[in-house]
Amino acid sequence: MAVNVIKENCRGCSICVKNCPFDAIKMENKLAVIGTGCTGCGVCVEKCPFHAIEKTEEKKELVDLSEYRDVWVFAEQREGALMPVVKELLGEGRKLADEIGCSLCTVLCGDQVEGLLDELFEYGADKIYFAEHKELESYRTDAYTTVIHDAIKTYKPEIVLLGATHIGRDLGPCLAVRCNTGLTADCTRLEIDKLDKKIKQTRPAFGRKFNGNHYLSKSQAADVHRTSGSHGNGQKTGGPERPGDFRSRKL
Ligand code: SF4
Ligand code: SF4
Repeated sequence: MAVNVIKENCRGCSICVKNCPFDAIKMENKLAVIGTGCTGCGVCVEKCPFHAIEKTEEKKELVDLSEYRDVWVFAEQREGALMPVVKELLGEGRKLADEIGCSLCTVLCGDQVEGLLDELFEYGADKIYFAEHKELESYRTDAYTTVIHDAIKTYKPEIVLLGATHIGRDLGPCLAVRCNTGLTADCTRLEIDKLDKKIKQTRPAFGRKFNGNHYLSKSQAADVHRTSGSHGNGQKTGGPERPGDFRSRKL
């Protein structure tokens, strides 16, 4: 799926910019330009009065899903400190990784965040992928999506867990679109089916206020909100190092 501006039709009215729920459109030289934060929701296609935006289906690449393994947790940090939900997700991810029989990894973005690696290992990560750059110091949709999507393409996690924070709620859908995969928002429970080893998720069916989180799978994406301490205990477990495995890898 791709969302494109038909330049010849665009009159520069900015209506699409005001209506995009993901702030993914900007004006350049009086033409609308779709950014990488686009989730493909289609709102701008409907709103443009000049039929200047189209949504097209791209040919789907055939992906060998058997290459995808490991559970990843997005290690959200703000001002150099890990968000509490990260420990919670590592607790939940540990259970999933052990049931599947794979590694529990984290992906961390920021500027000068190497000091957080020990903390992530202490809370159970087996491996850490991290990217450091001034542009990643604070969350920016485009930059974080690009870096993490590249990492997902290269290292192929089976499941990605994100906290249901403002950042997780923004990043999860963007990654799901880029990875051409599903996203389950507001999960309150994740478990592995004993027979087929596929993930099963629980989310509230009505508008109840749950603290849940998100997950992406194959690569699935999920956004698991916090559930009053019922997910993960945040206790330090110390991740086992497996022979031949790296512990941390700079992206
Ligand atoms: S709404 Fe349509 S015509 Fe107006 S700026 Fe956006 S794409 Fe161009
Ligand atoms: S498809 Fe949705 S997210 Fe993408 S640019 Fe249009 S309104 Fe924004």
